[in-house]
Amino acid sequence: MSVRVVARIRPLLEKELNKDIIVHSASNNDGKSSNVVKIPNPKNESEEFSFTFNSVYDQPTTQEQLFSAEVNPHLKSLFNGVDVTIFAYGVTGTGKTHTMRGGLKLAERGVIPRLLSAVFRRAKRIAKDTEGDTTVSVALSYYEIYNDKVFDLLEPPEKRTPSGLPLRAEANGKTVVAGLSERPCEDLKDFERLYIEANNNRVTAATKLNAHSSRSHAILRVKLTQTTGDMVRESTASAIDLAGSEDNRRTDNGKERLVESAAINKSLFVLSQCIDAISRGEKRIPFRESKMTRILSLGQNNGITIMILNLAPIRSYHLDTLSSLNVSSRAKRI
Ligand code: ADP
Ligand code: MG
Repeated sequence: MSVRVVARIRPLLEKELNKDIIVHSASNNDGKSSNVVKIPNPKNESEEFSFTFNSVYDQPTTQEQLFSAEVNPHLKSLFNGVDVTIFAYGVTGTGKTHTMRGGLKLAERGVIPRLLSAVFRRAKRIAKDTEGDTTVSVALSYYEIYNDKVFDLLEPPEKRTPSGLPLRAEANGKTVVAGLSERPCEDLKDFERLYIEANNNRVTAATKLNAHSSRSHAILRVKLTQTTGDMVRESTASAIDLAGSEDNRRTDNGKERLVESAAINKSLFVLSQCIDAISRGEKRIPFRESKMTRILSLGQNNGITIMILNLAPIRSYHLDTLSSLNVSSRAKRI
């Protein structure tokens, strides 16, 4: 069981070019990339706080660099039957969706399309190397957790029931989402078609509720099944674009938003506790305490977990940035 917690500082957006940069990665004199994030104490700006990560990716980091450094190295394990889980954590506007989904241009594609592309490439190679004795099939599920309810993103929003999909405990101790659809996926084109449609479903569903899709967790599950004769090996890669971690007590917010906030806060809190427990090598991981960590069986079965903390470098995010650093830097004891 292993966990990596890394930080990614996004560049300034065009409208932010005149803004004050307050979040830095500590520079090392040896030219190596650093693993420390520095941010001023909001109560006394002459003082700086430091947070340590497994790695810190500063503003110029490209999508390709992040993928090669943090995700690609685990592909081999994934094909060896190990489950891989990747989270993007952070305040709304810090680059979670950019990191996971990314833009349409090839260079701007995020972790998810790159992962699928790498999976299909490897699957092809395995089929070729084994002269077809081993076949690899890929199936996708994609769902969101909103207000602690699970909704299938591969189904149109009209099909949703108010209570969402129920969870079911299986004999082997795993928890599954009952009725969640799973679509076979032959190649990258197939994937892209499904993914675009599902992301549209997500936005449409949120708009209907007068909400924003940053208020839900979006969880993509890629299931790999490798078959050689009678032998079947299964593993899953999960990629999660988490709900924004900002403190909503400070913003507008009627009753509806407060209910959402409570659900988001609880699930992010449990998630950070699980990451913390895994990183300390504890036996007891509180993954049953929230729906998301339960469905993901987080920290069970020798999986690999990667948490990417997205950060915006400017002052307007100061307090939220600090609290997101406080939550995820628990793992600095790794
Ligand atoms: P979040 O999903 O955390 O709310 P987004 O991914 O939507 O944040 O990012 C907010 C804005 O910043 C978007 O316009 C996005 O394109 C831009 N952005 C985020 N990260 C980067 C990056 N590494 N390079 C360039 N633009 C980025
Ligand atoms: Mg987003």
